[in-house]
Amino acid sequence: MIRRLLIANRGEIALRVARTCRELGIEVVAVHSTADGDAPVLALADEAVCIGPPAAKESYLNIPNIVEAARQAGADAVHPGYGFLSEDPDFAEVCTANGLVFVGPDPEVMARLGNKAVVRGLMASAGLPLLPGTEDPVETVEDGERIAAEIGYPVIIKAAAGGGGRGMTVVPAASEFRAAYHATRASAHAVFRDSTVYLEKFLTGARHVEIQVLCDRHGNGIHLGERDCSVQRRHQKLVEEAPSTRLDAALRAEMGAAAVRGALSVGYSGAGTMEFLVDDGGRFYFMELNARIQVEHPVTEMVTGVDLVAEQIRVAGGAPLSLSQSEVEISGAAIECRINAEDPGLSFAPTPGVLERLDLPGGPWTRVDAGYLPGSRVSPYYDSLLAKVVVWGPDRPAALARMDRALTEIRVHGRGISTTAGFHRAVLRHPVFAAGEHTIHFVDEMLAGEMGTGGDPAQRHAGAGRQAADTMELLVDDATAVTA
Ligand code: ADP
Repeated sequence: MIRRLLIANRGEIALRVARTCRELGIEVVAVHSTADGDAPVLALADEAVCIGPPAAKESYLNIPNIVEAARQAGADAVHPGYGFLSEDPDFAEVCTANGLVFVGPDPEVMARLGNKAVVRGLMASAGLPLLPGTEDPVETVEDGERIAAEIGYPVIIKAAAGGGGRGMTVVPAASEFRAAYHATRASAHAVFRDSTVYLEKFLTGARHVEIQVLCDRHGNGIHLGERDCSVQRRHQKLVEEAPSTRLDAALRAEMGAAAVRGALSVGYSGAGTMEFLVDDGGRFYFMELNARIQVEHPVTEMVTGVDLVAEQIRVAGGAPLSLSQSEVEISGAAIECRINAEDPGLSFAPTPGVLERLDLPGGPWTRVDAGYLPGSRVSPYYDSLLAKVVVWGPDRPAALARMDRALTEIRVHGRGISTTAGFHRAVLRHPVFAAGEHTIHFVDEMLAGEMGTGGDPAQRHAGAGRQAADTMELLVDDATAVTA
């Protein structure tokens, strides 16, 4: 039985985990850096511990300080949230060694999942379909050129240790391989301290569709349907929704079964996400397994009514899943917009500052998970996520209309602060998105004002950033109107 849980995270996810703990009667230990002394999670915590200065390395990534905080506060479990230490097997191991239940998969399992190329191999063994590519590291540029030629261009070079959309380069043609290979290795080394890269065929016109799985420590696994996260910029998700307009019930069941089979085959336990690409013929390809709760998990909670954090905690404590596959029902449609403190007019540059005014939406079937209160400071030390706005509707058009309404309620004031709320409204109103016909190239195409004009999406993907001034002005005006 977990009695007192330390949340090793900050912002909206710390608050979200704290809320479920309180509903379950579990005491909350919150940790914070000196930059987060006014975090909303602190009001819900039974105890708060300062774990260091603002730099994440010295606080939210500081394993000794976090474990010491857990010891001092008498916690018996740790929830890592997402990002920071959530997929660090050393952290899971140290927690376990100190008698703390780690809310996530076993450290040995997590260690194997850290290398995306290795996971490709594991999933191939479990019979999951993969795009052509390598399961071993590509050690030299000559090897890479040879393999890329075999696979056929475009290809994507990926850092084996990568995540968060970083450490990936799309290569449209052989002439660009050499430079892309060296650049990806260098950035992989700089960001992840591991320059290992592997190759995959780049699937043009794909949708990003991920399956939420839950597995317990008794060999049971279920899936809770999919989230479509094709609205991305620089491989980072901006909007997520369920169900996906590209899936029908048969494909959902097929992908769900494959996802559960893959997760169970590696001894996974807890909440996990199996990410796939789906082509326009409904063929799907495994991409990666995320061993954590994800930013976009509320979308699934909205359409299934299942509290994923509660299931994570239950499973970590050794209990079986509280529901079986036949009890999972997907109802209506849900969509999430990530409202970031960023300026869409300046290539989405972060805009830190003090939130002098922060009005967030409310209303029927409208959930807002925010990491800030009015008067809080958005710190340049952390990610720029201000709030997630998640809505549910009986069908997709109703959910989109509800989201549009919710976005108009956002008012953010603060010197220098912009938000992506206006950008999201432009996405929702775009005919291609509204029709559910968008692909992973949608945002690049929308920003470039090239929608519907043909051209090579891989080329565009590779050269993201070329943005037509007229479209951008429209978005900035919209954002200003909303945030003014
Ligand atoms: P990360 O771990 O950094 O999130 P992923 O492997 O999940 O990286 O990929 C992020 C995004 O990059 C995908 O959602 C997709 O848009 C794009 N992507 C990755 N691999 C491919 C591929 N082989 N073909 C087309 N797009 C891809």
